Formats: sequence, structure tokens, C-alpha cells
Amino acid sequence: MKLKSNDPCWCGSGAKHKRCHGDRHALLRPPVRLGRVSAPRPVPDAIPRPDYVTTGVISTPRTPQIQDPESLIRLRRACAVAAEVLIRTGEQVDVGRTTDELDAFAHDTYIELGAYPSDLHYRGYTKSVCTSVNGVVCHGIPDDRPLEDGDIVNIDVTAYIDGMHGDTSATFHVGTPSAALAGLVDTTREATLRGIAAIRPFEPLQRIAEAIEPFAESRGYSVVREYGGHGIGVTFHADPHVNHHIDRRDDVIVLPGMTFTVEPMLTSGPATFHQAADGWTEHTDDNRPSAQFEHTVLVTDSGAEILTITDDGRSAAARVG
Ligand SMILES: [Zn+2]
Repeated sequence: MKLKSNDPCWCGSGAKHKRCHGDRHALLRPPVRLGRVSAPRPVPDAIPRPDYVTTGVISTPRTPQIQDPESLIRLRRACAVAAEVLIRTGEQVDVGRTTDELDAFAHDTYIELGAYPSDLHYRGYTKSVCTSVNGVVCHGIPDDRPLEDGDIVNIDVTAYIDGMHGDTSATFHVGTPSAALAGLVDTTREATLRGIAAIRPFEPLQRIAEAIEPFAESRGYSVVREYGGHGIGVTFHADPHVNHHIDRRDDVIVLPGMTFTVEPMLTSGPATFHQAADGWTEHTDDNRPSAQFEHTVLVTDSGAEILTITDDGRSAAARVG
């Protein structure tokens, strides 16, 4: 059941939702206008590129990515690098920084760690991360807009190294967060972890959506349906499509060794959105904010393991346990 505006707020304050975490005025930020996008940044020749960059064609399989012990070692490395890039770039988020500056910092960090930024020149995209601010659901292009106090920004990082892609994202607060936005961000982080914790081998992929959607709705949020997670490994975007909303037609069964992303996008208003003129940026129709977290996970013999953490267990996105 979706929490309604006159219901008591989920946080236990005793106030109506619309006077507490569902306060529209506290949630609303000025619309994010598209800014100037800088030229693509160069990558040293010594760093290997994915096929779609070198040949312009994706030649790796679209089929579900199932790892063997050897490929898993390489995927773990790509995921650890992605986690490290996200942590360090997240530390750069501050009032007055532009998303282009975050892109530049992330770009240099990928290279320092020996990785290629998978986003760069993927299907015509020209930046090294996506930066989605406030009412931007996903695929925001880094530009010259300075971050403002009270904004939220999702940074989406994918690292390509040793022939593998590792994909992770997190939503960061800029300056001082409002309680309403903190509620959205915290709930999205928790929804991501609940979805991952629900994964079981030889059981439906839908367990993820069953863990995420009712939880999000119990707090008055909506789950984006048109975008989901994806298989990942040698291929950046592979099958299966991972729904975060319940879809009874989904009959995918997960298998040990499968690797895919879990990356729910939650909106504080209805989960309807439209694409900007740049062909990438997706804005909520009502301009109310949206948050997202993402991990690359491995299906194990008993559940799922988060791969997008550093070797010493750090993650900007969220950690298990
Ligand atoms: Zn509340």
C-alpha cells in the first residue's frame, strides 16, 4: 500500500506525511537546466578500451553473464576500481563544484587506477560519469552547473579493466540536506540493499522487486519502471533486465555465478519522466527529486555478494551488514 499524504509519516514523528518527509515544498528544487558540456577527455593509449570504442561495434554477448573462477577475479578488480572511483569522486561533491569538475576528477582517477571509463564514447556519450541532480532521474551529463546547497547528485561510475566492466552509483548530498531529501536518499539506499539481500539462486529475479517496491511505497515513494539493472561482465549492458518494480510477466530465474546490477531509482512524486533535448538526461515530469544507488552483484550458492566494494570493504553506495 502506498503511503498517502494524510497518513502518519513513516518516520514515526506522529505528523502527517505531507507535513513531514512528504513535504512537497521541502522537496522541490528549482528545475535543473542543461549547461555547457566540455569536450571529451583523452585516455592514454596504454589503457585498453572496450570494443565499442575501438571498433564502434559491441561484439561481446548480450546473454546473461555467468562468471567462472578466472573471469570472476577480473570482474572483482573492475568492480573494486569502480567503487574506489565513486568513493573518491563523492568526496569532491561540494557547494559550488560543477558536475564537469566531478567528471574531470573521476576521469583522472580511472586512469590513475589503470581503467577506462566505460561511459566515455558509449553509444555517443562523451563524458566519463553520469551526474544526475535533483529531478534528473538518470543519465545527467556533467556540465558547468555549480552544485547548490541542498542539492542531491547521483554519480554513476563504470570502470573497464582486464576486459570487465564494474558498475556502481550513489546519491550524495550537497551541503546541508533537508530532512525530506535525506528521507528519499536513505530510503533508496536501503531499498537497494533490501533488493540485493532478497536474491537467492534458483529463485525468481522478481524477489528483488518484491523487496524494493512495497518498501518504497510504504514510505510514499515511487519506483521507476522504464529503467532497471542489467547483466554485466565482459558486456557493459547484458541480459537479464532487472526490474525494481513487480512485473508478473518476469520469469527470469537467477543462477549461481550470474553477475548483474541492482540499481533502483526512487522518485518523490509519480515515477513519470521525459528526456531532455540532449538525448540522455531524463527529468521527472513534476520536477520532484529522484535518487538512485547501484551495485554490481554476484549470485552465490546462498544469496548474492556485492562486488562493487574496495578490497578493504569500503563503498560509497552502501555496504552489506
Ligand atoms: Zn517523517
